Amino acid sequence: MDITFTHGMIVLEDGVLEDGAVLVKQGVITWIGPSGKLPESTEKTVDLGGFVLSPGFIDLHVHGGGGFDATCADPAGLKAICRAHEAGGTTSLCLALVSSPIETTKRALQAIAKTATEGSGGARVLGSYLEGPFLNQARAGAQDQDRLLYPDLDLLKSFAVAADGWLRVVSLAPELPGADALIKWLSKDMGLIASVAHTSATCEQTTEAIKLGCTLATHLFNGMIPFHHREPNAVGAILADDNIHAELIIDENHIHPTALRMAYKLLGTDRILLITDAMSPKGAGSKQGKLGETEVELGDDGVVRRKTDGRTAGTSLSMIDAVCNMMRFLDLPLHVVVRCASLNPAKLMGIDDRLGSIKVGKHADLLVLDKDDLRVLYAYVGGQRIYKTPY
Ligand SMILES: [Zn+2]
Repeated sequence: MDITFTHGMIVLEDGVLEDGAVLVKQGVITWIGPSGKLPESTEKTVDLGGFVLSPGFIDLHVHGGGGFDATCADPAGLKAICRAHEAGGTTSLCLALVSSPIETTKRALQAIAKTATEGSGGARVLGSYLEGPFLNQARAGAQDQDRLLYPDLDLLKSFAVAADGWLRVVSLAPELPGADALIKWLSKDMGLIASVAHTSATCEQTTEAIKLGCTLATHLFNGMIPFHHREPNAVGAILADDNIHAELIIDENHIHPTALRMAYKLLGTDRILLITDAMSPKGAGSKQGKLGETEVELGDDGVVRRKTDGRTAGTSLSMIDAVCNMMRFLDLPLHVVVRCASLNPAKLMGIDDRLGSIKVGKHADLLVLDKDDLRVLYAYVGGQRIYKTPY
């Protein structure tokens, strides 16, 4: 169906168009301009009444939601994860897998490929994100240490076969023996994203990994040795190098607001990717859930922790919460923060020709947000409405 959105605050790549209109034909944006200058009308018109029209959010790092973990290998479960994130404005996502038994990972990769190919019926599944198993035991975080392995190119290739063309991101600790070959294969041979993660790497080792092809840091600060001025470690190397992007979990727990301000000053607005790192209890009826084989529990503070030892595992954050938090903590305007939730991940993945911003020629993945509290009222994927607020 063709749709015209009128009288909205249109969030564009470099600013906001007041009293703007957007024309959508066959799921694609065909015109953007002032409401008074609409060139034609369509079958359906949505009068935004001054509300915000934003590009849909792209969350690269989603473990779960709706009571399911991405390792479930159950197409219905993967769809439930998508549903749980749509209310927060996510219109595209990568499903992240923690370190698990090899066969579990392969089955999960196959199921993600199937859902990505067939479509979830809502948010786009962009593919899979392997957060392990090639991580450092010393920085495992909530991951099951027994499942961590040294980098193994043949094993990684077998994961890629299972993922059937839908593998997008592989997290690894670059200091582990053999990691270099994996980074080169991912970045140079496959054009995939190699991400620095769960690591004890020195500053020099990290800089070398970036030179070899790592273009992303998995949840910067978390799962890394803290910055020190005599040994800046991975954190320092990542902040100081313009050739790498950084995921940030912006809730009230994972990064101190001052560390966030420091990171923002160094990363700027083009190198930050907002992620949720959300887990199965997000948008589920129960606070209990699973991360891979590990039992986790959602706390009243929105943090998901491992049940056995209370170690932080992830969040129940939504993308719109992350956007609002970043605006609040850094005193930034909406359109600047929206870039970090849409255009930046699209660019990193090489899909910004069709996704990531409101621009003529791109898919109409759009959000209508309340102008006062930025609540997500409607979400659209390719011009089809996938979410409507119940309130
Ligand atoms: Zn994660």
